[in-house]
Amino acid sequence: MKNKGIIILIVILAVLMGTAAVANMFSYTATEYALDTMCTVTAYGFNSKSAVTDAFDTLKKLEAKLSVHRETSDISRLNREKRAHLDEDVFNMIKTAKMVSDDTNGAFDITVKPLVDLWNIKGGGPVPSEKEITYRLNSILNADIQVDLEKRDVYFANSDTQIDLGGIAKGYCADKVAKVLENHDIKSALIDLGGNVRTIGKKKGKVWRIGIQDPKKKRGEYFGVLSISDKCVVTSGAYERYFTENGKVYHHILDPHTGYPADSGITSVSIIADDGAIADALSTAVYVLGVSDGLALLNSSEYDDVGYIIIDKNGKVYISENIDFEITSESYVEG
Ligand code: ADP
Ligand code: MG
Repeated sequence: MKNKGIIILIVILAVLMGTAAVANMFSYTATEYALDTMCTVTAYGFNSKSAVTDAFDTLKKLEAKLSVHRETSDISRLNREKRAHLDEDVFNMIKTAKMVSDDTNGAFDITVKPLVDLWNIKGGGPVPSEKEITYRLNSILNADIQVDLEKRDVYFANSDTQIDLGGIAKGYCADKVAKVLENHDIKSALIDLGGNVRTIGKKKGKVWRIGIQDPKKKRGEYFGVLSISDKCVVTSGAYERYFTENGKVYHHILDPHTGYPADSGITSVSIIADDGAIADALSTAVYVLGVSDGLALLNSSEYDDVGYIIIDKNGKVYISENIDFEITSESYVEG
C-alpha cells in the first residue's frame, strides 16, 4: 500500500513537471535593434516562434517606411518633395499626430524635425545659438500639414516643413506587432519597443506586472509596478537621451513653443491606453505641458479612459484612478 502511494505521488509530480515544461517549450523571445531602440517580443503558445519572427519582419518593414535616417523612406520622400501619397500606416500616424497636436495646443508636434536636427541630441549637441533656434521655431509656427482623408495624400503648404514621427512611431508599431501576433493565434504576449510596452492577454493566467522605470536610477530599476492586460503603457522621460554642456542636461523632448528641451517640472510620465500611438504621443505631450496642464488634459472628457502615472521633480507621483499601480520605492509619494 505504502509503495502504491509513493508511486502515485511520483506520477503526479512527473505530470505536473511535464505540464510546466511543455508550457515553457511553447514560448519564444527575441530582442533586436529597430526603430532606434532595443525591441523585445515574447509570445506564449504553439506558434510563438513563427509569430515573433513575423512580428520582427513587420517591424523592419515599418521602419523602412518611417525612418528619417533613410533616404528611401516614405517620410524622407515626403520631407523632400513636400507631398506624397501614403500607405495606411504612415498616413494613420500622421493623422493621429495631428489630432494629438490639436488637443495639446501644439505641445506634441511632429513638425519639430528642423529643431530635432539642430539640437542633435543623439550626436551630443552642441547647444545651438538663439538665432538658429528662432529661425527653426518659425518653420514650426508656419507649418501647415494638409491631408486628404480619402486619397491618403499629404501636402506641406510651407516648403520649410519637415516631420519626425519619433514621438509616436513606437507606440503605433507596438499595436501593429500585437495584431501580427494575434493573427498567429497568440493569446499571451509582451511587446516592448524601447519602453513602449503592449501586453496581450495574461501571463500564465495572471495579469501582466510591468515595472515602471525610476527616472533617477539606472535602466531596469523600477519605482513601482503596474498591473495590466490587453493595454499599452508608454513612458517618456528626460533620462532616455540627452547630452550635458557646462553641467546642464539637454534632453530629447523639445518644447515646440520655446525651441528648448522641455523644462516643465516633470521627470517621467507614463500613459496607459488601448491605442499605442495615442499613448506615445500623449506621453511626449504631457512631458512638455507639465503637471497642471497635463492633468487638465488627461482628466478632460476626451481622454478620461486613459490612465497616467506622472512624477514631478520633487518625487511626487500623480496616479489616475482607473489603473492598478503600486509604488514600491520609498523615494516616491503619491501627490
Ligand atoms: P522616446 O522616443 O525616447 O520614447 P518620446 O516618445 O517622448 O521618447 O519621443 C521623443 C522623440 O520625438 C524625439 O527624439 C524627437 O524625435 C521627437 N520629438 C521631440 N519633441 C517632440 C515634440 N514636442 N512633439 C513631437 N515629437 C517630438
Ligand atoms: Mg512619445
